[in-house]
Amino acid sequence: MKKAMLWKKVEGKKVICNLCARKCILDNGQLGFCLVRKNINGTLYSLNYGKLIAAGPDPIEKKPLYHFLPASCSFSIASAGCNFRCAFCQNWEISQVYREGLASEIVGEEYTPKQIVDLTLKFGCKAISYTYTEPTIFFEFAYDVAKLAVKKKIANTFVTNGYMTPEAIKKIAKYLHAATVDFKGNANLDFYRKFSLVPDIQPIFDSLLEMKKRKIFIEITNLVVPKVGDKEKDLKKLVKWIVDNLGNDIPFHLLRFFPHYKMSNLEPTPIEKLLKLAKITEEEGLNYVYIGNVPGIDKENTYCPKCGNLLIERSGFYSRIVGLDKKGRCNKCGYKPNIVLKVKFK
Ligand code: SF4
Repeated sequence: MKKAMLWKKVEGKKVICNLCARKCILDNGQLGFCLVRKNINGTLYSLNYGKLIAAGPDPIEKKPLYHFLPASCSFSIASAGCNFRCAFCQNWEISQVYREGLASEIVGEEYTPKQIVDLTLKFGCKAISYTYTEPTIFFEFAYDVAKLAVKKKIANTFVTNGYMTPEAIKKIAKYLHAATVDFKGNANLDFYRKFSLVPDIQPIFDSLLEMKKRKIFIEITNLVVPKVGDKEKDLKKLVKWIVDNLGNDIPFHLLRFFPHYKMSNLEPTPIEKLLKLAKITEEEGLNYVYIGNVPGIDKENTYCPKCGNLLIERSGFYSRIVGLDKKGRCNKCGYKPNIVLKVKFK
């Protein structure tokens, strides 16, 4: 347990949490919507500080980050809990562990920030990813690890639903180098309300703008859920917003849905549907469009947007840089694609 960041007293012993866009107002003794932050006598505490349910190396492509330190490993950590309630969550046993009553107390193995940084170095990883569940719900630990990591020239990446406050992004921006922001159901508001219990999605767009302002490298994913979250008009609206606000070089991943948790009755997203949506996304102007969760599909590689040269070859989580020079330029036409090969530490 650790005193939380980003909250303030409202009146008496009541506090407001300003970490995620839910902005829970908590009476003394009350838990937040995420069930891992608690008001104890007028002070907000993070209950899961340093308690990890995952800590190990992953290919960075698994996040997915395709354009940030490609073909490297990222040490991945997670704590249990979430500020969303997605009925389709593939990690629901850890994200919804408290909501589902699968644990009566905070779960996880105890780690210190130093241990995480030491393990990252031991495995030869260039980055640490805060992933599997929502990093916002273990923000204090992520912050302490990230701060220590940059001292060792290790990059930090969030895999996030984007539902954090601009203040949270501002707080960690100095140590955060990249983020995968994860949309669901083609960013349809009714979908979010019904299947994730999220009242409003504007905070996700606000987070993206804040990340851009703070020069955090962004990749975007979108989980395509058949029948209930796969409308073409929603996707066009989302892609238009990305092109207009972030530019057309943002890597965009269309993810295949597989039946999980409370949506086990649905079929996986048809491949033809994903291919059609990928074509629409490209026609709407995005230069780097990928299909995820379908190993071997012809939408994993990165090609030069100028001359079509193969830059990075991928299959599943395996990847190989084949068409970039040391400065990250296309070795055929000299074009500089939006790919980070090396992080500059201040
Ligand atoms: S992190 Fe979000 S869900 Fe959790 S207490 Fe704070 S505002 Fe509520």
